Amino acid sequence: MAASVPKAAIVAIGDELLLGDTVDTNSAWLGRRLADLGVPVCCGWTISDAKAHIAAAVVKAAASAEVVLVTGGLGPTPDDCTRQALAEVTGASLRVDGDLLAGLEDRFRARGYEVLPERNVSQAQVLEGARILPNSLGTAPGQAVEVEGSLVILLPGVPGELIRLVEEQVVPLLARRFAGRLRPLHHRHIQTSGVPESVLAEMVESVLPEDMGPVALAYLPGLGGVELRLTARGVDSAEAARWLDSIEVALEPVVREYRYHSDRRDMADALGRALVAASRTVAVAESCTGGLIAKRLTDLPGASEYFVGGLVAYADRIKTDALGVSREDIEAHGAVSEQVVAAMARGVAQTMGADAGLGVTGIAGPGGHSAQKPVGTVCFAAYLGGRCEVRRERFGGDRAGVRERAAQATMALLLRMLEAG
Ligand code: AMP
Ligand code: MG
Repeated sequence: MAASVPKAAIVAIGDELLLGDTVDTNSAWLGRRLADLGVPVCCGWTISDAKAHIAAAVVKAAASAEVVLVTGGLGPTPDDCTRQALAEVTGASLRVDGDLLAGLEDRFRARGYEVLPERNVSQAQVLEGARILPNSLGTAPGQAVEVEGSLVILLPGVPGELIRLVEEQVVPLLARRFAGRLRPLHHRHIQTSGVPESVLAEMVESVLPEDMGPVALAYLPGLGGVELRLTARGVDSAEAARWLDSIEVALEPVVREYRYHSDRRDMADALGRALVAASRTVAVAESCTGGLIAKRLTDLPGASEYFVGGLVAYADRIKTDALGVSREDIEAHGAVSEQVVAAMARGVAQTMGADAGLGVTGIAGPGGHSAQKPVGTVCFAAYLGGRCEVRRERFGGDRAGVRERAAQATMALLLRMLEAG
């Protein structure tokens, strides 16, 4: 009989999660990462900073799964009591670890504190018998202890620290513990933009093979477009790759027009790499997106290779004075018009000395609309090598949604021009 697939449970701790002040991104990330590893999450609890509640949740979680990941409550303040709760559950005492304490003292000395604040001493406390999992980004290490035959792992709440610690410490630990039982999922992501989910689904269904083998298809719509996720389960990576390849080949003819390629699943990344490949630079002139495109392009390391600069041209006066948009065009056609946005794209490329220019102007709402230009109306343009492509679209969603969709579509327009060569 095949060995059973190990399951994980999550206990997310923090009043801020229950009050809605902080979104529990740690559970979402852990869910994805553990599924990829082959230890899928089967259940989870969100718990307040109350010791008794934490202890009860950990006991339930340990009864439900072979691995329990506990996030949060490892800080230096009195509301952080995960360590104490685990001491109660396991009956182990807490001791101050000399090496951890010395490490904390060094960290604080480097920040100019000669004496370690008393409160931080608690972060050097470990459960007797626990395995210490060093935290290379923060002060609180992770700890792993056995509870009723399950492995309970305490992790910091700060997302960046949690991710690093899981990658460096927890993944290798689980890979060893469950060697031979892991059944990782194999994913293939296909990014599309500029096509509604229902339209895409109809085209996809028409070419999908009848026999999908171990592969399931999911449609994941978001503000940037629809992602197709192909997932192969229960097979090794070679067989998964064969199935995923054949299905991807079948899909290619219908997705080609809308697809972009990015390991980061990010249009800005796809555009940045296309600009580098073509040895072109870009400048952006943004009205309704308020700098979103510039932000997204510069979020990426190495952006200086292709990104020259950007201007948030919100007032008409900036469009005319800084970008050379003609006052007559604004008066005749309005600031949200094909004429104006084309001049913005061309103007910003010329004034900033870039090969390409992007322009976007629209009505993000909720006010500022008219019968001819309802909320969501956006004009965007891409200028490249003397040519300018202009589009007008009506995007759905609230203000944030319209802005995100406008930024995505504007970047896609230039990407298509670069691909066309
Ligand atoms: P803690 O380890 O409980 O002191 O948490 C430190 C910080 O990490 C909190 O102030 C939150 O901003 C953040 N945090 C804690 N738990 C989560 C979670 N589950 N998801 C996202 N952020 C979290
Ligand atoms: Mg907390």
